[in-house]
Amino acid sequence: MERGKLLYEGKAKQVYATADPDLVIQHFKDDATAFNAQKRGTIESKGVVNCKMSEIFFTFLEGRGVRTHFVERLSDRDMLVRRLEIVPVEVVVRNIIAGSLAKRIGRPEGEALPNAILEFFYKDDALGDPMINESHITTFGWATRDEIAQISELALTINRHLVEFLDERNVLLVDGKMEFGRHKGAILLGDEICPDTCRFWDKNTRERLDKDRFRRDLGGVEAAYQEMQRRVSS
Ligand code: 5GP
Repeated sequence: MERGKLLYEGKAKQVYATADPDLVIQHFKDDATAFNAQKRGTIESKGVVNCKMSEIFFTFLEGRGVRTHFVERLSDRDMLVRRLEIVPVEVVVRNIIAGSLAKRIGRPEGEALPNAILEFFYKDDALGDPMINESHITTFGWATRDEIAQISELALTINRHLVEFLDERNVLLVDGKMEFGRHKGAILLGDEICPDTCRFWDKNTRERLDKDRFRRDLGGVEAAYQEMQRRVSS
């Protein structure tokens, strides 16, 4: 499948048209940003790792009956996916307190939650992805009541499957961000699942194996991404 016109360029990915209007190519870059692009850099081979890791997660989830946009990986950095009409909402699922939740409620990172927490953020870089709720989503028409109910259930189901998959590989899924979109009347999981979009901690040492190493200048960023790829590939 040949790359056609560039349709969209984001911070970490590009999306290209193909000859089939229902399919697009998602290209993974090494560029990394944090704190709403105030911090910029590159993480060597990140695009390759995130493309491969997303393929592994999407294939696993499809096997568990979750519909995703993934079709096939075309090369080290290119993935053929179904074209989605993206719902402009970032869905965050949390299992352990970390990041913005720790700040917002004034509790230390690392405390396990009694149940998964679901949060919604309006996908708008200029506004810094503000937190929203279901009432905002339906009122502003970003998704219908039925769609947001489906998305919520899907996000929690995906989280359960990923927690189980990662636990077997000695990794804690602390939290993660998902995006969903419409395709031929169905809601599909889109975007990517990787150390850019999830917090992964080693189960025993709680070492961070994700983008927080870049965000917080902890060093060993590339090694952490490689280690996560090694674990999910086994
Ligand atoms: P927090 O709200 O604590 O900053 O992030 C929660 C989780 O969602 C983390 O796993 C983080 O990586 C992910 N996340 C939240 N917003 C974004 C975003 O705009 N881009 C990416 N790649 N991940 C995000």
